[in-house]
Amino acid sequence: MSARILNGNAIRDQIYADLQGEIRALAAAGIKPGLAAVLVGENPASKVYVRNKIAACEKLGLASFHITPPGTMTTTELLRLVHELNTRDDVDGILVQLPLPSQIDSKKILEAIDPAKDVDGFHPVNVGHLVAGRPALVACTPAGVMEILKRSGIPTEGANAVVVGRSDIVGKPMALLLLHANATVTVCHSKTRDLKDTIRRADIVVAAIGRPGMVTQEHVRPGATVIDVGINRVNDPKQAEDFFAGLPERLAEFRAKGTALVGDVHPNVADIAGAFTPVPGGVGPLTIAMLMSNTVKAARLRRGSRAPAAASSHT
Ligand code: NAP
Repeated sequence: MSARILNGNAIRDQIYADLQGEIRALAAAGIKPGLAAVLVGENPASKVYVRNKIAACEKLGLASFHITPPGTMTTTELLRLVHELNTRDDVDGILVQLPLPSQIDSKKILEAIDPAKDVDGFHPVNVGHLVAGRPALVACTPAGVMEILKRSGIPTEGANAVVVGRSDIVGKPMALLLLHANATVTVCHSKTRDLKDTIRRADIVVAAIGRPGMVTQEHVRPGATVIDVGINRVNDPKQAEDFFAGLPERLAEFRAKGTALVGDVHPNVADIAGAFTPVPGGVGPLTIAMLMSNTVKAARLRRGSRAPAAASSHT
């Protein structure tokens, strides 16, 4: 058996097509949603992430403000910047790229963002709304996983869903979204006993662990839907040979570059799963898509009566 591959790039394109209608309707009301992306310091991976987010804004015709204060800035200085962005009418979404330099109190910063502009969905007010099942700006990666399931016709109602990982940004909101979609949800973590047997009971597995290839064929019930959130870099040729044994093109690419991105699920799980998200090209593209979606939603909700009714169906 070979899994149906759930193509994150194609689903992202569908979401962008839906958003474009809404962006046009907002433009007709004189509103151009705007995202402020704050990148403190020189972290190379963060630079790439922020660049991709700004590029997505440009592609969709959203306004973007790329703010790059020095890595030496203090918590007080960053708080001042966040407060200024909170008061700007042309800024609908505020994104402070993590991780922040160690001298900055990240929690304080994230809690200072106006919840109405919290397009990452990390503010306790938005987390509380999510827990209570009220409309909210929801963390982008788990929201993207829900879009993959919904748009791929994978039923959640009554399904046994196992989320591996309980982080604030992926595992916990993921579990809540699945619960609100009427799945029976189990959350696993590093202290879970019988991890293998627990995952094997799942109709839907979401792996958000941060360990390359940890979920193997032994963990997965044949036919289950497997969503791989993990993004891990592999540099060890032996590990790459194991990962890409059945994927000669990926192995050749690894040999050429000496590095590759892999998920938390071993790629050969695709041989037994019913549906499967690849890495790269599965969940990854949805994270930025949902950031764009949240920015448009924040503009619509915050600028209220100045905006027309929603044209798109997603939350
Ligand atoms: P995290 O904060 O490090 O959380 C990892 C979770 O996995 C923790 O809850 C941890 O349990 C659990 N865990 C670790 N080892 C385990 C084990 N042996 N057995 C069972 N559970 C174990 O990571 P995260 O931020 O949620 O990210 C998870 C992965 O998703 C990473 O690879 C990250 O790069 C990726 N990610 C991808 C996207 C995307 O756009 N696709 C976005 C965000 C994150 P404890 O709580 O007990 O420590």
